[in-house]
Amino acid sequence: MEGKCPRCDFPVLEEDKYCGGCGFRVAERENYQAKTQVEMQLSDIRINLGKVYLKKGDYAKAAESFEKVLEEDPENTEARALLNSIRSKISEM
Ligand SMILES: [Zn+2]
Repeated sequence: MEGKCPRCDFPVLEEDKYCGGCGFRVAERENYQAKTQVEMQLSDIRINLGKVYLKKGDYAKAAESFEKVLEEDPENTEARALLNSIRSKISEM
């Protein structure tokens, strides 16, 4: 995958750490951002899916979606809160 230097628009390859045009450090920061973005999108999709199941009253499927989010992102407070609320609902039934 090719990208561009954010400073001078010089084309840089994914494995390049520094821009060939101006010497700006490009590699680590861009890769890090790309990875976090993909992970965030995946979590968001699963959380939204879980919310759909919640609305339908399918607590087992909803819990499953939120558990998957937490497996990959244990710090995800939204998934944790939703999962806790499901568990308290289930225990009331
Ligand atoms: Zn540059």
